[in-house]
Amino acid sequence: MIIQRVVLNSRPGKNGVPVAENFRLEQSTIADTVQAGQVRVKTLYLSVDPYMRCRMNEDTGSDYLLPWQLSEVADGGGVGVVEESKHENFAKGDFVTSFTWPWQTVAILDGSVLQKLVPQLVNGRLSYFLGAAGITGLTALLGVREKGHVAVGANQTMVVSGAAGACGSLAGQIGRLEGCSRVVGIAGTDEKCSILVQEMGFDAAINYKKGNVAEQLRELCPGGVDVYFDNVGGDISDTVISQMNQNSHIILCGQISQYNKDVPYPPPLPPDTEKIQKERNITRERFLVLNYMDKYEASVLQLCQWIQEGKLKVRETIVEGLANIGAAFQSMMSGGNIGKQIISVSK
Ligand code: NAP
Repeated sequence: MIIQRVVLNSRPGKNGVPVAENFRLEQSTIADTVQAGQVRVKTLYLSVDPYMRCRMNEDTGSDYLLPWQLSEVADGGGVGVVEESKHENFAKGDFVTSFTWPWQTVAILDGSVLQKLVPQLVNGRLSYFLGAAGITGLTALLGVREKGHVAVGANQTMVVSGAAGACGSLAGQIGRLEGCSRVVGIAGTDEKCSILVQEMGFDAAINYKKGNVAEQLRELCPGGVDVYFDNVGGDISDTVISQMNQNSHIILCGQISQYNKDVPYPPPLPPDTEKIQKERNITRERFLVLNYMDKYEASVLQLCQWIQEGKLKVRETIVEGLANIGAAFQSMMSGGNIGKQIISVSK
C-alpha cells in the first residue's frame, strides 16, 4: 500500500534553530497484509512538541529520548482510527493513540503500543487526547500537584512562563482550580496575553517582548511569587525567581529558551539567581511527567471532567496536512502557536 510519510531530512546542529527543511515529505509503502498482533491505523492527528528539538540531535542529551535518524520516519504522539486489526484488544473503527506514532498517513503498528480512546470523554474532540486530555494536560496537572505545593486557602500567587503555550495555558487554570488565589502569565504577544486573561481566567498577563518584565511583575504580584510554573528558563526565569518568596516552589516543567543551545538539562542557574534560590529555600526539583504513569488514568479522568464542565478552557492551533508538519514545528518553537500545536492528517 502506498502512503505518505515525513522523515528527518537534516539536523539543525546542537546550537541551530530548526527549520521546516529539516523534514522531508516522501512517498513510501507498507505491507498489504496485517500480521498477528498488529493493527493497521489511519492517522488523524499528530502532536508536535518542544522536546522533539532534542530528538533532532544525534545525541538527545537524555536517556529517555531516542534521536530521530536521518532519512527515517519521525514519530511522536498520535491519534488515529483502526482500519484492520489482528490484535484481540482492537477492532475496526476503534480510536487509538500512541506516544510513538509514526509521521505517516497510514501505518501498521504492534497492538502493544496502542491505547484505546473513548471519544465521549472529550466531547468527540479527539485531538484533545494529544493535548489537554493527554500528555500536555498530565504535565500541567501533575506538575502543579507534585511540585507546586498548592493548597486551598493558602493565598498563593502563581506565575506561569510560556503561559499561552500548550502546558502553560492549562497550568495556570489548574493552579487556580487547585487553590491559587492569583495567577499571572508571561507570553510573547498581546493577543496571547489577552486570551489568557479574557478566556482562561488568568488575573493578568505580561508580554515579555514589551516593556520591563521585572517592573510589571512587581506591580502584578505585590505579595511576591509563591509558585512558578517554568516552561522557558533563561532571563524570564531569572526575573521571576528574583521575586519569589521564602520557601516558595518552582515547577521545573521545561526550559524552551535553551533548547537550541548545547547546554545540559536542566541548565544550571546563573550564580546570582542560584544564590537567591538557596537563600530563600526555593525548591527547583526536576519534573518529568513520564515518572508518574501510575497517576495517568485518574488524572486524565480529572482533566476530562474539567473540560466537560467548562472549567478548563482549551486552545489548539491546528495545521492541516502532513506536508506542513516541519513548518508547524518551526513555528511553535518561535512562538507561532496558541495552546497545543496539532497537525490534522486526515484532510
Ligand atoms: P508550547 O508552550 O506550546 O510552545 C512553546 C512556546 O514557548 C512558544 O509558543 C513560545 O511562546 C514559547 N517560547 C519559545 N521560545 C521561547 C523563548 N526563547 N523564551 C520564552 N518563550 C519562548 O510548548 P509546550 O508543549 O507547552 O511545552 C512547554 C514546556 O514544557 C517545554 O519546555 C517542554 O519541553 C516542557 N514539557 C515538559 C514536560 C515534562 O515532563 N517536564 C512534558 C511536556 C512538556 P511565546 O510567544 O510566549 O514566546
